[in-house]
Amino acid sequence: MQQLKNFINGQYTLPVSNNWIDNYCPANGEVYGQIPNSSKDDVAQACRAAKNAFANWSQTTIEKRSRILLKISELLEKNLQRFAEAESTDNGKPISLAKTVDIPRAASNFRFFGNAITQFASESHESVGFNAINYTLRQPIGVVGCISPWNLPLYLFTWKIAPALAAGNCVVAKPSEVTPMTAYLLGELCNEAGLPKGVLNIVHGLGSTTGQAIVEHPDIKAISFTGGTATGAHIARVAAPMFKKLSLELGGKNPNIIFADCDYDDMLETTLRSSFANQGQICLCGSRIFVEQPIYNQFKTDFVARVKKLNVGHPAEATTDIGALVSKPHLEKVMQYVTIAKEEGGTLLCGGNKVLVKGFENGYYLEPTVIEVPTDECRVNQEEIFGPVVTLMPFTTENEALTMANKVKYGLSATLWTNNLKRTMRMSQQIQAGIVWINTWMLRDLRTPFGGVKSSGVGREGGFEALRFFTEAKNVCIKY
Ligand code: NDP
Repeated sequence: MQQLKNFINGQYTLPVSNNWIDNYCPANGEVYGQIPNSSKDDVAQACRAAKNAFANWSQTTIEKRSRILLKISELLEKNLQRFAEAESTDNGKPISLAKTVDIPRAASNFRFFGNAITQFASESHESVGFNAINYTLRQPIGVVGCISPWNLPLYLFTWKIAPALAAGNCVVAKPSEVTPMTAYLLGELCNEAGLPKGVLNIVHGLGSTTGQAIVEHPDIKAISFTGGTATGAHIARVAAPMFKKLSLELGGKNPNIIFADCDYDDMLETTLRSSFANQGQICLCGSRIFVEQPIYNQFKTDFVARVKKLNVGHPAEATTDIGALVSKPHLEKVMQYVTIAKEEGGTLLCGGNKVLVKGFENGYYLEPTVIEVPTDECRVNQEEIFGPVVTLMPFTTENEALTMANKVKYGLSATLWTNNLKRTMRMSQQIQAGIVWINTWMLRDLRTPFGGVKSSGVGREGGFEALRFFTEAKNVCIKY
């Protein structure tokens, strides 16, 4: 059984308390490793290392920083198979997904920000009539905290770390306690790529202790967090008195609005993916499907038929479409929503049961589930389930669809399927979301701003937005 260690000051380090947490494999429900149950002392040690490294790293040339990030990206690509296997074992996601999406995307994050930093410029303003010129310095913040969730472990971990490092900060980062493995392996690659000691420190442990210690530590001046809305609100409360800079990427309950004039086959294929990719555990999944009345029955029949054909199985099998959910408590939470849906008068069109995968009967498998709901106000339509469960409802007018789409506390993403250009323009302006996809889903260009409105968070990641978050703007005014 592997015992993971913290990565502090470039070295794999035992936790001060010598306390450990079991790490479970979702595919078979067995403990297969242990991670440090890090305390405030471990976080303090990581902060000291980061603080010491900051003077040099912040003064390291952009070219050198860029070169190191590009090297990490290259090493990730070289180690694709090893990282994909680790991610799949740790998280329960199909190996095919880890290999084609998660790990390549983590490599892209380092490549993208390694390149973006070389193009990151600040503005200057000639104050005409005052004989003065203003320019803006974009300075690294210092030590920053990055806290990420379990659903896309390395993908989201590196989405924060790469821009933070590119901008010249030193980082104390915590991956989710349930998916620590690839973050653990990353330390080794950072050393190989020549990242100086202390620039990136990775501390494992529980959110309520290790995560909390990162948020509370006075040397950490900014927190980039992705996770649940309740945790985000808690972090905001803890960080507020210390005036820490915050980026919060939180939950979603995203609408997928389908009009009768869409390209039907393309829509059906993509809706299958946007509903169930990664077992529905992506914050961007379209978990509420609204279909225009004329094609509602046809869609219902075709969609359910396709969902029933999805193959739930062991994540390591190449034929698996739906792997295991991340943990037993999460599986139980998701299944609880199936019960709630039935109590609220929902009709289970397919799924809803645990799947016993032969030889792995203790794994956390659930059938992909489609529920026809009587009203958009029921709990399964309002609360984030974050599993392979989608709701289905018809609508008759554009306004009705828009009202239902916006009638949730979340506002992360939305998908529209239509070939009507004017409707596209109207609706994309009125939908309350940070991201709107038209006739596609999860097509990500890393230059674009990423984030949510309402309870889906504050701040934007992606492109120069991320580099702006990880720097302080300072105005310098020269009178001549
Ligand atoms: P959580 O909020 O439970 O946890 C996220 C991270 O925060 C974990 O590393 C967790 O540690 C840590 N954490 C928990 N409590 C604290 C605390 N008090 N102080 C500091 N850190 C803490 O989310 P999940 O891991 O369950 O992830 C799922 C959620 O993430 C969903 O709501 C999903 O929508 C959201 N998400 C949002 C995305 C976006 O971009 N908007 C993208 C992906 C997911 P530990 O795991 O050890 O408890």
